[in-house]
Amino acid sequence: MKYVGAHVSAAGGVENAPLNAARIGARAFALFTKNQRQWVAKPLTEQSIDAFKANLKEVGIAPEHVLPHDSYLINLGHPESEPLQKSRDAFLDELQRCAQLGLPLLNFHPGAHLNKCSEEQSLAIVADSINWALEKSEGVTAVIENTAGQGTNLGYRFEHLARIIEGVEDKSRVGVCLDTCHTFTAGYDLRTAEACDATFAEFEHIVGFRYLRGMHLNDSKPDLGSRVDRHESLGKGKLGLDCFRYIMNDARFDDIPLVLETIDEGLWAEEIALLYSMQSIQQ
Ligand SMILES: [Zn+2]
Ligand SMILES: [Zn+2]
Repeated sequence: MKYVGAHVSAAGGVENAPLNAARIGARAFALFTKNQRQWVAKPLTEQSIDAFKANLKEVGIAPEHVLPHDSYLINLGHPESEPLQKSRDAFLDELQRCAQLGLPLLNFHPGAHLNKCSEEQSLAIVADSINWALEKSEGVTAVIENTAGQGTNLGYRFEHLARIIEGVEDKSRVGVCLDTCHTFTAGYDLRTAEACDATFAEFEHIVGFRYLRGMHLNDSKPDLGSRVDRHESLGKGKLGLDCFRYIMNDARFDDIPLVLETIDEGLWAEEIALLYSMQSIQQ
C-alpha cells in the first residue's frame, strides 16, 4: 500500500496538520513540530498534544505515516564544540516533541562541514550526535535525508548515509529518507525506469532498503548533478514523471510516508491524485 501526502502547514498549532493533510486527500504527511527557523520553541501543550492525536485518529492517518522534519538551523556535523552542542540540544528537543506526539520518526539533514574539517570527520561527528541524542530519548527513529550536496552539506552520496549508519550504535533507531530532487541533483539519474533500476540498485547495495523510512517526492528545477537544491512541481522539472510512476508501482516503497515538498501547495491535491492514478494496480 502506498501512503502519499505532503509537507503541510502546522500554523496555529501542530493539531492543525492532520486536518490540512486530510483536506488534500493525503494518507501521509510531514510537518514541523516547531518554527523551523528558530532555535528555541515553547514546549507543546497538553491540549495541543491531545488535539493532534485526536485529529490524527479522526482523519485515519497512522503515526508511522507522519514524517516530522527538524529545524533547518541544526547541524549535527558541526566541527566546533559550542555550536555542535547547541545543535544536539535542539535535535534532542525535536526527538522529544515527536515522542510526545506519539510519532516514531524524525527526518533531518545530516549536516555540513563548513570547510572546517574533512567530510569524513564531519560524518563521524554526525554519527556521534545521533548516538548522543538516541541515548537520551526513547521511541523515535532518526531518519537521515540525502541532500543535493549544496555548499558543504554532507549526505549527497549514498556512501555518506552508510558511513553515518555504520557509526550509529542502535541500528534499530536509524533510517534514511530519499528525496528524489536531491538524489537527482546529487548526480544519480532517475529520469527513466532503467535509470531508476540502476540508482535504486546502488542504494540497495550501499545502504539497503531495510533502512528506508520515507521518501520526498519532488521534481527538480536544476539538472542532473548540479548539486543545487531547488524543488519543482511534479512533471514541470528536469526529472519528469517516469520516476514517480516507477516509485508508485514498486513494492520497495510500500508502507512508508511518500511526501511531496513541491513548490506550489495549490497543486498538492492534484499531485496526490496524479500519483495514485499512476498505479497500475489500484489500491
Ligand atoms: Zn526533502
Ligand atoms: Zn530540498
